[in-house]
Amino acid sequence: PFRDYLDWLRRQDGPAAEAAWREALQGLEEPTRLAPRRPTAATMPETVSVALTTEQTSALTRQARRLGLTVNTLVQGAWGILLGRLTGRDDVVFGVTVSGRPAELPGIEAMVGLLINTLPLRLRLRPAEPLQALLVRLQDEQSRLLAHQHLGLTRIQQVAGFPDLFDTLLVFENYPTAAAGERAISGLSVAQAEGFGGDVSHYPLGLLVLPGEQIQLRFGFRPDLFEREAVEAIATRLQRVLDAIISDPTRAVGTIDLLGVEERARLLPGWNAAGQAVSVETVPDLFEAQVRRTPDAVALVLGAESVSYAELNRRANRLAHVLISRGVGPEDIVALAVPRSVSMVVSVLAVLKAGAAYLPLDPEYPPERLGYMLEDAGPRCIITTGTAVSAIPAGSPVPVLRLEDPVLSAAPEHDPGDGERTARLRPGHPAYVIYTSGSTGRPKGVLVPHRNVVRLFDATDHWFSPGADDVWTLFHSYAFDFSVWEIWGALLRGGRLVVVPFAVSRSPVEFRDLLAREKVTVLNQTPSAFYQLMQAESDEPTSRQALSLRCIVFGGEALDLERLAPWYRRHPDDAPILVNMYGITETTVHVTHRRLSQSLVAGGAGSLIGEPIPDLAVYVLDGGLQPVPVGVSGELYVAGAGLARGYLNRPGLTSERFVACPFGGPGERMYRTGDVARWRPDGELEYQGRADEQVKIRGFRIEPGEIEAALGSHPAVAHAAVIAREDHPGQKQLVGYVVAASGTSPDGADLRRHVGQRLPEHMVPSAVVVLEALPLTPNGKLDRKALPAPERVSAGGRVARTAQEEILCGLFAEVLGLERVGIDDGFFDHGGHSLLATHLIGRIRSSLGVEVTIRSLFEAPTVSGLAERLGTARPGRAGLARQVRPERLPLSYAQQRLWFLFRLEEGP
Ligand code: AMP
Ligand code: MG
Repeated sequence: PFRDYLDWLRRQDGPAAEAAWREALQGLEEPTRLAPRRPTAATMPETVSVALTTEQTSALTRQARRLGLTVNTLVQGAWGILLGRLTGRDDVVFGVTVSGRPAELPGIEAMVGLLINTLPLRLRLRPAEPLQALLVRLQDEQSRLLAHQHLGLTRIQQVAGFPDLFDTLLVFENYPTAAAGERAISGLSVAQAEGFGGDVSHYPLGLLVLPGEQIQLRFGFRPDLFEREAVEAIATRLQRVLDAIISDPTRAVGTIDLLGVEERARLLPGWNAAGQAVSVETVPDLFEAQVRRTPDAVALVLGAESVSYAELNRRANRLAHVLISRGVGPEDIVALAVPRSVSMVVSVLAVLKAGAAYLPLDPEYPPERLGYMLEDAGPRCIITTGTAVSAIPAGSPVPVLRLEDPVLSAAPEHDPGDGERTARLRPGHPAYVIYTSGSTGRPKGVLVPHRNVVRLFDATDHWFSPGADDVWTLFHSYAFDFSVWEIWGALLRGGRLVVVPFAVSRSPVEFRDLLAREKVTVLNQTPSAFYQLMQAESDEPTSRQALSLRCIVFGGEALDLERLAPWYRRHPDDAPILVNMYGITETTVHVTHRRLSQSLVAGGAGSLIGEPIPDLAVYVLDGGLQPVPVGVSGELYVAGAGLARGYLNRPGLTSERFVACPFGGPGERMYRTGDVARWRPDGELEYQGRADEQVKIRGFRIEPGEIEAALGSHPAVAHAAVIAREDHPGQKQLVGYVVAASGTSPDGADLRRHVGQRLPEHMVPSAVVVLEALPLTPNGKLDRKALPAPERVSAGGRVARTAQEEILCGLFAEVLGLERVGIDDGFFDHGGHSLLATHLIGRIRSSLGVEVTIRSLFEAPTVSGLAERLGTARPGRAGLARQVRPERLPLSYAQQRLWFLFRLEEGP
């Protein structure tokens, strides 16, 4: 009688069972979900059935016997491995059913009643573990839980801390089939009801395994969550795992191939090896050839200044000869501390002509940071000019060459030849070293050779065909490699490069004017910068000079296609062309290419990054470096002609990130990007985010670990965590969290200042919050979701004295998201940054009808300060013809410093 079973159940040790399950599921970080979303309404499941051949079936049975395991364990192991691959996880859970008939209860096998129980099966996957070891471990782990299988699933999930541990269920049908049942109990037959599907129907995907001469795999799936083809593919892949178990159980779990020959060939393309061989030229070779072709064409423009190819070449040659005379040559590094200007481009070119690699230093970076870079890179000399010299850390032993030095005007003007250089310049010699944020707290220099730059343009010419009619902007800082694309896209192809003054690059309205005035044809933007430009366009669509753009290239951060909708509404003819390019400093600016279109934006596609540049290969791999199937997320690896030499003086880090490529020729390397992506069925890549902590804020690549290290160096900080959060849509910002060292009470503003003395402005958190303790997950990791949004509180202070101040207070509060703002509250002290500044300026324009420049706001960032200036502000643009603006003049160095003191947070 069933009552016996209930009595038995009451006698079981509940707390012991709970403890066993708690231990079994300890450290699990998340439930395992295969379906793209949670099911909503009930739906009729559909089925896909496949049968193993009789040979496969008997081989599997033999293998189980040989290993001393059950066939059930083999199938469970196979399913767990597959689930891990399909979800990109190394710790998976799925549901299994057990008979629930305790052997110790006499007569249990003949008892009538519902005894079956559904339980979670957890499997930790290690790519290097031999298959048979995994299977033995699985059976052991399951045996240890045998005595505790009576605990209800709901209770187990409570104990584990997850209400839904899994969304797939595996049922191995080990009770008698109808035929056997008839024989066993006369007069009573057991039959499978049609469409019943083996009680798996309420899970998104259930797998029913029916033993027999030919093992049957019957997948029940919700058609609203899975496509039939996808389930068929899963069935095929499961058979491949089972085949691996049959054929060689000693092989490592990570090496099992889920792909067929065709699919594998598709996912592991070669790349145009010929493209690698052709770059026998260096950047100066190509530039000098261009000078010979078009000596009188305009190469550089900055405001009223314009410089021809011949003149640019002469100026660079003079500097190059001075460098060579000081012993600078190939494999040397020359640091540049030059504000963006014509001289900056001259200096870059001169270093390359001398044969050395340039190390761009942003004069606005804190001396401590610049000092570190100088020490790390060990440049032969530093080129600087004007007041930027003050950026060079005091006591730096590196010789300084000023662009004002009279020796320059006396230097020769001809192209330096290999005979004059300290050594022959070859395409493999480094052209530049660009530092990127480092997760261990120290930035690292990426060393990129000439050949990479030359082939970048060779390999992308067919998409852009840049030429002599093109006008490019130098919008980005030379400390970021987007500038490499901008400078040489123009100057190696006879185009014109318009140097965008820093202040203009930070003012979308003025930049929009520059684009029209200079008839810019090729524009390169981070999506963040472009959204602002779009805003500037839509704010004042009338009385605008037409743009001459033919092409806009996005890069540097994930593009949100939907945000381009307003742009396409205004430019419905798909002109200019919009292109998304994914790329990394370590792979020489760009990796992939995707032409965008209006229909794509309307179709709500993900962040598409397209296909690799022809001389590169991209792989999407799992933790065992196996290609993941189409549609499955994996980590992106890049191989081919764009790979940097590595990190300067960091062999360990270099070998961690530039790893041997198992799919290329001998010695081939691939770069491990840390980006997560997946292949779409049509063969293009979709960007999905990061596999690590790295973040992008307005195109800036930031390792929070570096900021945490800077915070942690403050004596009052015991623990620190930094995350990027987006509490207001479209406004991603860095927020720091610290726990005070005992006996101290640190102040958020102080800590920000502390970080500002060590790290570039864009790495300074918008707010630092002091917490009692950092919130932790049950597994002891930082619980990011539990970190509070920073409170934005006004200092209170003096209230508005005039109507104008009152309106301004209201606008400040609105833009900053504050309850109220006093007239002495600083815009940038309360979370304001340039993006919000642009917004505020637009609101001031529409509310007060006056035009405030972004610079006035940086100079007078309080309501009282700004109100004073409003007396001198121009009337709004609408009522104004074009006029000369003194603000377009370049800022003095002192002004720039002042500017930065006011918490400027910018894109590169
Ligand atoms: P950086 O070295 O500064 O160019 O940063 C490279 C990183 O920026 C990549 O690893 C990506 O995380 C991100 N990234 C660059 N371009 C794109 C893009 N088009 N879409 C999404 N992410 C991008
Ligand atoms: Mg980049």
